[in-house]
Amino acid sequence: MKDETKCVRSGYRPKNGEPGVMPIVQSTTYVFDTAEEIGELFNFPNAHMYSRFSNPTVDCVEKKIADLEHGVGAMCTSSGQMASLMSVLNICNSGDSLISASTIYGGTLNLFAVTLKKLGIECIFVDQDADEETIGRAFKPNTKLVFGETLANPALSVFDIEKFARIAHAHGVPLIVDNTFATPILCKPIDFGADIVVHSTTKYMDGHAVQGGGVIVDGGTFNWDNGKFPELVEPDESYHGFVYTEKFGRAAYIGKARMQLMRDFGAYPSAHSGFLLNLGLETLAVRMERYCKNALKVAEYLSNHEAIETVRYPGLPGDRYHALARKYMPDGCSGVISLDVKGGREPAEKFMDALKMCSREVHVADIRTCVLHPASMTHRQLTDEQLVAAGINAGMVRLSVGLENTDDIIEDLAQALDAAEKAE
Ligand SMILES: *Cc1c(COP(=O)(O)O)cnc(C)c1O
Repeated sequence: MKDETKCVRSGYRPKNGEPGVMPIVQSTTYVFDTAEEIGELFNFPNAHMYSRFSNPTVDCVEKKIADLEHGVGAMCTSSGQMASLMSVLNICNSGDSLISASTIYGGTLNLFAVTLKKLGIECIFVDQDADEETIGRAFKPNTKLVFGETLANPALSVFDIEKFARIAHAHGVPLIVDNTFATPILCKPIDFGADIVVHSTTKYMDGHAVQGGGVIVDGGTFNWDNGKFPELVEPDESYHGFVYTEKFGRAAYIGKARMQLMRDFGAYPSAHSGFLLNLGLETLAVRMERYCKNALKVAEYLSNHEAIETVRYPGLPGDRYHALARKYMPDGCSGVISLDVKGGREPAEKFMDALKMCSREVHVADIRTCVLHPASMTHRQLTDEQLVAAGINAGMVRLSVGLENTDDIIEDLAQALDAAEKAE
């Protein structure tokens, strides 16, 4: 099936006489005929047991997302942050390290630099545009994975997935890619060599700003039996001697994430959240096409406006990431644009305050056009140095172009830019 068809048809496959729409299975428990059957489930979890780590409604959504991303399995989480955290904890222990691009989402940066450090895991940040040799020098013997974002929030740098896959694999570790902004409609990182994909489904996948969530997708591509990941290939004593690669085969990573981490943490979405996420996914392919078209039009308008210093949108031919964008996202670069209003922080805030239709909100990838000021909001906790490394200026505004008519969006932006210019 092609992506548009998968969005509508994949995951839930009703049998004769069953509901046409994926039902909300609002139950924590599942009943069985014999005690022995339940015991067997602990040997091989091939049915639902308890909704702390799996549920029939969420399961359908997981299958759909795995299908869209060309993965062998997926696990939903209660937030995007939880997906990033679990993707790391699944293969990193205290005393280990990971390598991450420095241009990643501010929340992830904080999680990696501050909170993981408290757990004894060191994150080594690298400039994602550096050459392979320079990045290779960042590896330590205890490095267990490499992490980057397809299209970074909010720097809008494009991650060279093939380059990082080569570097990671040469060091015997997997590449994890946060594909939130691109979505599998615009880019499938696993096709370019990524091993694991994570998402904040709160953004385009849900699409309507009604609920938070995340997902981890296992590409099934990585060979865990290389001496670096004993927890995947040796018996797990916390799970009666279960060997993940033996029981789950190519889906060992996601199997372990569910049966060990999700079992212990329980940060699993409710059935109702799974239902809402599926509604968003059903129209994802159609929406992404329109987001790309609208954003390109708005980016072109802004790049010719005298009150704007710079516009960052990799879909623009003059953008420094345009060549990489053509390779990894040939059909468009999502709806997110970064812009620097001339004059820095103050005019940027005036511009935002003068908007009449576009919403000021702590969100992105909403169906509604919205703006946010990273330096004073999502990235407020970062030092000036970290801000620069994350590709953020004090005057940068993140504009998430929605699905309104572009004439209305541009009219609102135009009057707000006028107001900002007059105030100067
Ligand atoms: C929002 C976001 C996250 C975090 O997701 P939440 O659902 O807010 O926890 C992670 N990565 C990217 C790229 C994001 O935009």
